[in-house]
Amino acid sequence: MDFFSITGRDKNTRARTGILKTKDGGVVETPSYVVVGTRGAVKTLNSHDIKNSKTQMIISNTYHLFRELGESIEHFEGLHKKLEFDGVIMTDSGGFQVFSLGFSREHNVSKVGFFSHKKNGFIGDAILALRAKAGIRNKKNSVRITNAGAWFIDESYGDKHPIVLTPEMSIEIQEQLGADIILAFDECTSPKHGYWYTTWAMNRTHRWALRCIKKKKNNSQLLYGIVQGGDFEDLRKRSAKIIGGMPFDGFAIGGSFGKEEMRNVIDWSVPYLPDDKPRHLLGVGRIEDILDGVERGIDTFDCVIPTREARHGGIWTRFGRYDIKKTKYLDNNEPLANGCMCPTCIGGITRGALYRLFKEKDDSAGRYATMHNVFFFNTFMKDLRDAIHVGNFSEFKKQSLSDLNSNNRDESR
Ligand SMILES: [Zn+2]
Repeated sequence: MDFFSITGRDKNTRARTGILKTKDGGVVETPSYVVVGTRGAVKTLNSHDIKNSKTQMIISNTYHLFRELGESIEHFEGLHKKLEFDGVIMTDSGGFQVFSLGFSREHNVSKVGFFSHKKNGFIGDAILALRAKAGIRNKKNSVRITNAGAWFIDESYGDKHPIVLTPEMSIEIQEQLGADIILAFDECTSPKHGYWYTTWAMNRTHRWALRCIKKKKNNSQLLYGIVQGGDFEDLRKRSAKIIGGMPFDGFAIGGSFGKEEMRNVIDWSVPYLPDDKPRHLLGVGRIEDILDGVERGIDTFDCVIPTREARHGGIWTRFGRYDIKKTKYLDNNEPLANGCMCPTCIGGITRGALYRLFKEKDDSAGRYATMHNVFFFNTFMKDLRDAIHVGNFSEFKKQSLSDLNSNNRDESR
């Protein structure tokens, strides 16, 4: 079965629309946002809220679910039942936790946020590689990576002894979790890693990819390979060629930090990935990044921004984000965004009302804000698809960026 079909293309860029059908009947129109449901739940939302927020896809986190379920994972009901969601569900491979518990801490690099790129230089890189090989690590780095897999010490789960995660275990766990799309186990490098270490880690990611393909038994799941290679042009091209040549159902691009690096990484990778298969960009989801990604041929994006920022009072509109907790919203009777058709705005929750709910620390505050933000991003993607369909993508991008940068006093940050 052809699970991905391209339904439209922009004449001037690599932007395209498509339909992704999973083997269990899930259907997604792309480009699409993938909402983050880390532990098998979208925080603050129930299954009706998820549906009402126009969500097509959810990504859950293999590592955290595995840690929480422990041995009971064998009896796990499956993510579709847990989320009561009949759309498309993805799981990550746990590879990103290897990074976030490891080099992300050691190098003080986070995925969401801006990083000013500075390479270690050859000497720094060589020392880092030798230290890694000898198993010496920075105190904050609680992960050790070898060709066999990754060893974790995760204090948040009270671990004193390392636990292991291998490519084979990642696939086995993801098969038990039962998502529609699963990801190969990879090693994400930090932008502070130099050429030597990045090459080494990339080659390991390629070997792990083959082990994941070999291990996968469940034919109702689609397996995506992950392109790595830091922000080195030759490495990204090599990784895209090698991963793109493997029998994966789709492809994800991982480990891109910073805006310019992200654009470069996509430009280098996409031409080597099969055109007829879906492409996912991991952990990226600001408006301007989505526009840049779609323009370069990306079909799906996942990011914590709509949900995490909502829980802290960050409200998204086409003019950017504003903080609903600011006193100036106390007596504001406008909807969260003018003309918004989300359940929160249609339900009559005004800016003043939401301001008060946040001040009172009412449980519903995060839910109302999350519904609005998720609906906003999903609607933005729908408008973007419509623009590609009618041959209007470039104008849509220009207008969206101009709205974002318009400093609209009422609605912007
Ligand atoms: Zn709304």
